[in-house]
Amino acid sequence: MHGLAVPATPASGPAADGARAERRLYIAPYRDEAPSNVKVIFDADGRVCYADERPSDRCIDGWLWERWEGTQTGGQRWAGHHPVRQPDVMRHPPRCGGCAGEAHRDERGMLWLLHIIAQTPLAWPCDIITVTPPMCLADACWALRNCRTEHGFIAVRTQEIDIIGDWGTVYSPTQPPQADQLVLFEDSRMHQVVANRIVIRLNDAVLDETTLSLLSTGGLP
Ligand SMILES: [Zn+2]
Repeated sequence: MHGLAVPATPASGPAADGARAERRLYIAPYRDEAPSNVKVIFDADGRVCYADERPSDRCIDGWLWERWEGTQTGGQRWAGHHPVRQPDVMRHPPRCGGCAGEAHRDERGMLWLLHIIAQTPLAWPCDIITVTPPMCLADACWALRNCRTEHGFIAVRTQEIDIIGDWGTVYSPTQPPQADQLVLFEDSRMHQVVANRIVIRLNDAVLDETTLSLLSTGGLP
């Protein structure tokens, strides 16, 4: 398990001005980007690999990742996550998914803007498992106004995060591939998954209704 305590002092990230100026969402795929047509095979130990595997197909921990190709043109698909840029902002410390700059922090921790779903907790604090990165205030405000969601958003904060696994497609020598699977690092299926997103757990997350209200009304602190 990879512990990721959110540091009290913000770390420097890449310049966010370019992404903000053009209102690009750093983690979102572009329409001219798509998964490469690669052949997934199994090695002698039953682990997934690519028939023409390159060193860049695996992360530093050795897990196999989706290979994509294309260019950052053609407009963005805001609901998606690019399998290189999502992990890029989820590493230590996590950064804003909108601009790849610093995510917002206050005394309650780092800010996440999450869709309300059926599994959204009713009691706080609680642990939340997500593939969504944190956000800065400006991008959270923008997402709240421009991203479609069926049941609305919640804002939560946490002081501590763990990276717990990957999201991806699980392959089997005998069964059809299973897409959109959560595979935890201790799961033996880590050797059968082609990952496309890092999964994290927000430990003891608290609901932040104050910030959500300010963002909704444009009254940024
Ligand atoms: Zn941002």
